[in-house]
Amino acid sequence: MNYNQYLEVFKKTWHDRKKRSIMLLSIFTVILTLTIIIRLFSSEPKPPEGTFKVAICQVCEFKECRRIKNIKNPKYKCSKCGGQLAKVWKCMECEYEYPFLQSKISKKGLTKPELFRRLAQLRKCPKCGSVRTRAVSPRKYLDRQKKKTIAE
Ligand SMILES: [Zn+2]
Ligand SMILES: [Zn+2]
Repeated sequence: MNYNQYLEVFKKTWHDRKKRSIMLLSIFTVILTLTIIIRLFSSEPKPPEGTFKVAICQVCEFKECRRIKNIKNPKYKCSKCGGQLAKVWKCMECEYEYPFLQSKISKKGLTKPELFRRLAQLRKCPKCGSVRTRAVSPRKYLDRQKKKTIAE
């Protein structure tokens, strides 16, 4: 069959209403399938996971603010030395900042007062022993960094 014959078949099919709808339907199906295939193979960029947290390296105490989903996940490593990261806590008394190791808390077999005491122990500043300690928020940390760069 040459081009003209194809055209002839096409015209005949086009003028037959039933055949025309079948033809349109198959064209539609082909387009739909192609769209789905293209969608499947074009990798859309994934939204970044987690929220911004201030993390501290348990080894070198390097601090950084970055997106973290679960800080206990070993995939989060210090960008300086590759050490495991932890949340940063700060002592309100002596201003010392240290890694807060949540993983040390075991709730198993503890009564409420015991657990409370355990938590109080954990939150104690390793330098001065004060319990007036709290987590460093990313906003505060970034504000401080900004002030530092301005001062420099
Ligand atoms: Zn480190
Ligand atoms: Zn302290």
